[in-house]
Amino acid sequence: MAELLDGKRIADEILSEVRNDVIGTDDAGRRPPGLAVVLVGGDPASIVYVGLKVKKCAELGFHSERHNLPESTTTAELLALIAKLNADHAIDGILVQLPLPKHIAEQEVLDAIEPHKDVDGFHPINVGLLYLGQEKRALTPCTPSGVIELLERSNIPISGTRTVVIGRSTIVGKPMAALLINRSATVTVCHSRTVDLPAVCREADLLIAAIGKPGYVTDEFIKPGATVIDVGINPVTDPAMAREFFGDDEKRFAAIANRGQTLVGDVHPRLAATVAGRITPVPGGVGPLTIAMLLKNTLKAYRLAM
Ligand code: NAD
Repeated sequence: MAELLDGKRIADEILSEVRNDVIGTDDAGRRPPGLAVVLVGGDPASIVYVGLKVKKCAELGFHSERHNLPESTTTAELLALIAKLNADHAIDGILVQLPLPKHIAEQEVLDAIEPHKDVDGFHPINVGLLYLGQEKRALTPCTPSGVIELLERSNIPISGTRTVVIGRSTIVGKPMAALLINRSATVTVCHSRTVDLPAVCREADLLIAAIGKPGYVTDEFIKPGATVIDVGINPVTDPAMAREFFGDDEKRFAAIANRGQTLVGDVHPRLAATVAGRITPVPGGVGPLTIAMLLKNTLKAYRLAM
């Protein structure tokens, strides 16, 4: 059976390092790092994510602001808020929670964030710096950066490995590939048009799935002993589906009974565990690292601004 990689433990380690650094700034008489989180509309999942981010900021001694704007907000109104936050010296990081309502010009909004305050790493300047291999002065996207921390802190080799990334989104797949290339992996990026995906994936010592399809990656995608990183987060509400993915794991059925759902990644946990050497669980794998990296990025933005 595959060894489980404990993302929660590594995220806690990162958060504790960030917290110590924030205490250090306080001891030195400086203001704390500041994060502004902007939420437009009432998407239930976004409300939960924004709440978690603001709560973590408070726990770590950050200054944080939450800006809740109505669904009817125009692109111009959102741009006006971004301009105000760009000019605010107490704010080091600006995060606009995605997805934005359809009528808002998303890329225009992301482009308007000052690159040195762009803690999501989506501004073209930060994307360019990442691809130039200049990560030290870039802010890089939180989820793929969290995967790198997970690998490095678990002593899993990257340099020289055959690595396959499934998914080419700008949030996960593409920056993941760039971060791996910068660390000398041999990277193949797969997507919905890839021919014979299982055969390509079986080449990988390190397989990273960011697809958005529950349990899609089965044992036939995995080279025996490979490390499998599951970025996917998908709700499972049907007990029969839960049995397919998790066997008789009572905790999963209890989660569906009590909260209406449990979570599965893009990797089929039961089948993958029979072939993989190491695998990230869902929940408790990549998810906790994403939020830890947001706070680490905000601290980095604070330092870059000094
Ligand atoms: P996306 O929809 O933007 O991109 C999905 C990618 O998967 C696309 O590039 C597409 O080409 C590829 N794809 C789709 N079907 C495929 C198939 N059948 N075969 C091969 N490739 C296929 O999604 P995203 O934003 O990159 O997110 C991917 C997953 O990661 C989702 O489950 C999302 O919820 C999760 N996610 C998790 C975190 C986290 O913190 N753990 C953060 C971001 C996203």
